[in-house]
Amino acid sequence: MPSQAKTADRYREVRSRIEDAAVRGGHSPEGIHLVAVTKNASIAQVRELIELGHGDFGEGRMQHFLQFAAQIEEFQERHRELGPSDALVPDAVRWHFIGHLQRNKVKRILPLTRLVHSVDSLRLAEEIQACPLQRETPSEVLIQVNTSGERGKYGIAPAAVTHLIDQMDTMMNIRIRGLMCMAPFGEDPEDSRRVFQRTRELFDELKSSAIIGEGFDILSMGMSNDFEVAVECGANVVRVGTSIFGPPAEPEEDAKATASSGS
Ligand SMILES: *Cc1c(COP(=O)(O)O)cnc(C)c1O
Repeated sequence: MPSQAKTADRYREVRSRIEDAAVRGGHSPEGIHLVAVTKNASIAQVRELIELGHGDFGEGRMQHFLQFAAQIEEFQERHRELGPSDALVPDAVRWHFIGHLQRNKVKRILPLTRLVHSVDSLRLAEEIQACPLQRETPSEVLIQVNTSGERGKYGIAPAAVTHLIDQMDTMMNIRIRGLMCMAPFGEDPEDSRRVFQRTRELFDELKSSAIIGEGFDILSMGMSNDFEVAVECGANVVRVGTSIFGPPAEPEEDAKATASSGS
């Protein structure tokens, strides 16, 4: 199908743009992880990426997340039955929860999630801490920082991050792996640079401070419009949707297409 070929091409292009940006910023390209954001993706596109060997996917909407996670698990099962000829299909697909996480959704999301990118309050952290998991290892999370100070945006103020991390110090079921931020949406990716740089500075400060435990090493920033700037500024996780899967389908266009094909 032509649309699938496009997905693979766009995916490869995003990867090579990440590599170029890493080199420009003086970072090792191997150290940068791409999370493919599925919010506008079809399940066929997700499967195609998995067949290319891609393993990290991000979603922020509860229903979509649960539906995709279940369907992909089935797909993985079938591939496992086919055996070692499917070497390119990764054994484990890792789901990242990148959206605003409501406390009453924690119990359903957590068991399916490798990394929660969006912890931004003590109450949410407490809910995660209290969530009984079937596994021995703690839940891994990032603290979402509202570096730009935009009102109405999720994330905790930079000045409050240290205090939150301090308060989470005794939560044995949680491991804080780093920070996540979103730049305000703008036409010019250069507008994001200031926000990414500030977040990088905060990340470095925390890393060298005494309040941080081991494994604080993930800086998640950069989306379709600004992931190259983010990589230059030191992001080691970027979350890219539209540049891989294409723009969201226009409902009106769909309706028109259906109407005209019927006549
Ligand atoms: C949608 C979304 C992305 C990906 O955005 P694109 O512009 O489609 O690449 C990344 N991070 C978060 C938190 C998102 O909600």
